[in-house]
Amino acid sequence: MTAIHLHNTLTNRLEPLDPIRKGEVHMYTCGPTVYDFAHIGNFRTFVFQDVLRRFLQSRKYRVLQVMNLTDVDDRIIQKAAAAKISIREYTEKYVQAFLEDMDALHLEAPEELVRATDHIEDMVALIERLQKKGLTYNSEGSIYYSIAKFPHYGRLSKIDLAGMKTGVRVDVDQYEKENARDFALWKAPKPGEHFWETRIGPGRPGWHIECSAMAMKYLGDTLDIHTGGVDLAFPHHENEIAQSEAATGHPFVRLWLHAEHLIIDGEKMSKSLGNFYTLRDLFTKGHKPSTIRFLLLSVPYRRQLNFTSDSLKQAESSVARLRNFVSRLKAEQFPAGSSADIRKRAEKAETDFDAGLAGDLNTALALAAVFDLVRDINTAMDRGEFLQQDAPRVIAAMEKVDGILAVLAEDDDEKLAKLGFAPDKPRISPEQVEALIEERNAAKKRRDFKRSDDIRQQLADSGIIVEDTKDGSVRWKYK
Ligand code: AMP
Ligand code: ZN
Repeated sequence: MTAIHLHNTLTNRLEPLDPIRKGEVHMYTCGPTVYDFAHIGNFRTFVFQDVLRRFLQSRKYRVLQVMNLTDVDDRIIQKAAAAKISIREYTEKYVQAFLEDMDALHLEAPEELVRATDHIEDMVALIERLQKKGLTYNSEGSIYYSIAKFPHYGRLSKIDLAGMKTGVRVDVDQYEKENARDFALWKAPKPGEHFWETRIGPGRPGWHIECSAMAMKYLGDTLDIHTGGVDLAFPHHENEIAQSEAATGHPFVRLWLHAEHLIIDGEKMSKSLGNFYTLRDLFTKGHKPSTIRFLLLSVPYRRQLNFTSDSLKQAESSVARLRNFVSRLKAEQFPAGSSADIRKRAEKAETDFDAGLAGDLNTALALAAVFDLVRDINTAMDRGEFLQQDAPRVIAAMEKVDGILAVLAEDDDEKLAKLGFAPDKPRISPEQVEALIEERNAAKKRRDFKRSDDIRQQLADSGIIVEDTKDGSVRWKYK
């Protein structure tokens, strides 16, 4: 079997996977910030992580994966405060939605799915360790990490530290990424916002400390693998390294893996740009969970994934091709007997699929091995060269690769029904929404406000949020 090699952002090289504990891989994954639904860009990264864990399991590794749910974050705190509800109440809906989305995409549950709000004590203890080592300073009730005191700062992201000024601070969770800054480990409470009363004072944790504390609690001081999207390398992961390594004196992570972005119209799909689709948006437009999973995994994780409606169509037909192939193998009657050639062909497909993934998870190569098999076997069947006893062997090969691809099960309708997209309950189509919005605009123009309000209500009842923008245009989206 080909040895597994993965690209390590820290060294910018392909490196062999060499777990600390024999046969076991400890892996940490930065999970979603649960202030809204995750978008399919986020799921690009989560699907990559799922393919990775499934591949490691196929190589008989026991995987211990921890994923956090970032449920303490500036946006969450502010939104919960504005709605006058607790953080838990605010985030619960999005946590549930995330779990449902994971299920729809056949993402295996990580062994530990942990919330920041359940680990405040671990974060406080870690901050205390950093305080004892003299790496922090206090300012106006907040505690900052002094990055100048961590000699390896910048090693992961190769950020230019030339312009770094000692003591220049940042305490917001989202900020411009060009400059290295001291960052908040602990933030002073703001009026009206939630805080914790702790040994290091009242306040709440910064985003970066959440991941260091939770990763080391469950996985030990040194992890085999840490994953995330490329946008997290700096400053988030750089800061995780600074916090963890300064506290323990040990390397924090052996292999840092970062997924390139899913882009749309040439730009990163993101909440802040507003150019995003949630899974549910795509389901509403009639796309299937298996299509989306296939599309997200089909482009190797270190290549940008350009999301287009054509790529969705292609993914749908690829899944159909695989499913039809397996159906044919199961349903058709072939001449009696078995053929060594076909057995070897199936074996080769399995080996090539595995070797593709062993080379930094090259899903494109791995898929090519599967589609080559489909083509060759279809040809053999058409020519009468495929025999009855060959069918179980080829089916077994397809099932084996599907242990990682997870697109063969004909369960799209079932997954959709679980999310309320049952075929007997169609949601209002985008065309119907547009037509109603046009009618509402016309009603407004003729000052028939009763009618325009009624239409707005009708849209709201159908799960559509309508926003009137400042420039007079109307935007809408599914709830
Ligand atoms: P967030 O909920 O923003 O913390 O992001 C969750 C995960 O999605 C992180 O690993 C991000 O790096 C990743 N991510 C965010 N946007 C994209 C994108 N457009 N393509 C791929 N991954 C993304
Ligand atoms: Zn993280």
